Amino acid sequence: MSSTVPPFPRLDFKGWHIVLPERGRQFLLPSENPREPLEAKVAERKSGLWVLRTESGLGVVVPDGVDVIRNGTAVTGMAVLHQGDNLELGGRLAIYEEVQRLTLTLGDALVDRRCPHCFTALSVGSEVIRCPLCGEGYCPDCWEHLAGSRCCSRNCHFSPGSQGTHDE
Ligand SMILES: [Zn+2]
Ligand SMILES: [Zn+2]
Repeated sequence: MSSTVPPFPRLDFKGWHIVLPERGRQFLLPSENPREPLEAKVAERKSGLWVLRTESGLGVVVPDGVDVIRNGTAVTGMAVLHQGDNLELGGRLAIYEEVQRLTLTLGDALVDRRCPHCFTALSVGSEVIRCPLCGEGYCPDCWEHLAGSRCCSRNCHFSPGSQGTHDE
């Protein structure tokens, strides 16, 4: 599997997962079968969980006729998802994962780019954290250092959390 096209961001339902739609797109996870996302037209008048991805790359959920719990609190209206969020949808549990930790391999787009924080050149074999919004690669330590602050890449507003990352 190529690491250049990661199946991120996604909702991990333990055993199966839903990869979020492309930026600016949305689909509905119908209550009766959330494994099969429906396009907007087909989804008319069905209840379920709308899953959106903003143009900037954020994951957003909007419950429609179903109860959805995020991190122990019912979602009213919409909720922007963050790395490690727990979602409960009709008794099913999912974890939101958007931050990818990977080891660079030959041909990865991040090889020869620099960590936006310390400017170290990334190379084959480097362990990096990929920013889910701008796609830049960081040293794991640098990413951790940015917790609570902002990605240093120009025009990127992603705020690295402290919930950890997912190994791929
Ligand atoms: Zn660095
Ligand atoms: Zn970024």
